[in-house]
Amino acid sequence: MNKKNLDHLSKEQHYVTQERGTEAPFSGELLHNKEKGTYQCVCCGADLFSSNTKFDSGTGWPSFYDVMNSDAVKVKVDNSHGMTREEVLCGYCEAHLGHVFSDGPQPTGLRYCINSLSLDFKQD
Ligand SMILES: [Zn+2]
Repeated sequence: MNKKNLDHLSKEQHYVTQERGTEAPFSGELLHNKEKGTYQCVCCGADLFSSNTKFDSGTGWPSFYDVMNSDAVKVKVDNSHGMTREEVLCGYCEAHLGHVFSDGPQPTGLRYCINSLSLDFKQD
């Protein structure tokens, strides 16, 4: 995987994943996607989330209560915008994906709030 090869990204995808941007809520193509499959990093293609853990959080961003496996993402404390949040990065190429909050459903109690622009979807 070559993290420098980002030529395939759109301007918006580049902004979100490389400049830690946030897409407008309810704008994401994958927000209402209910197909079975795997959500992958739009930058490097790594498997990040399964459709089995996707849920409708009502926030306007694709939300998951768990990750694909323990290597899939890295979590980093983010103190920007006057808040302390946990930033979620791709575990392989460190693309910015979104944030994780502790108000999700069981069994994890976590809510991974992920930009649709950070993700590719591979249908099963
Ligand atoms: Zn990646």
